[in-house]
Amino acid sequence: MAFTDDYDFEDLKNESEKLVIEELGRQLGAYQGTICRCNTCVVDMAAMALNSVSPLYRVSLLGTQYASQAMSEKTYASSLKSAVSKAIEKVRKNPAHD
Ligand SMILES: [Zn+2]
Repeated sequence: MAFTDDYDFEDLKNESEKLVIEELGRQLGAYQGTICRCNTCVVDMAAMALNSVSPLYRVSLLGTQYASQAMSEKTYASSLKSAVSKAIEKVRKNPAHD
């Protein structure tokens, strides 16, 4: 049996994914100016932002938080906001399509 068949990793969630997507929705909703909002660009923005924020994994079933304690909640929120706005600008200037 493979290791991944023996254990269920489905309950392992990266909380930062949810937070980045929520923040991206807020910032795009308030965005002034012309920007492509196609699926490719928006998913690209999310991926780019996620690659620059620290992961925030937890085990959802147990409700146990294993989130990094290195950063305070406030610091994390502000680094997440800036990662999202940088990702929006990067994709706006250089979209993944013509
Ligand atoms: Zn696009």
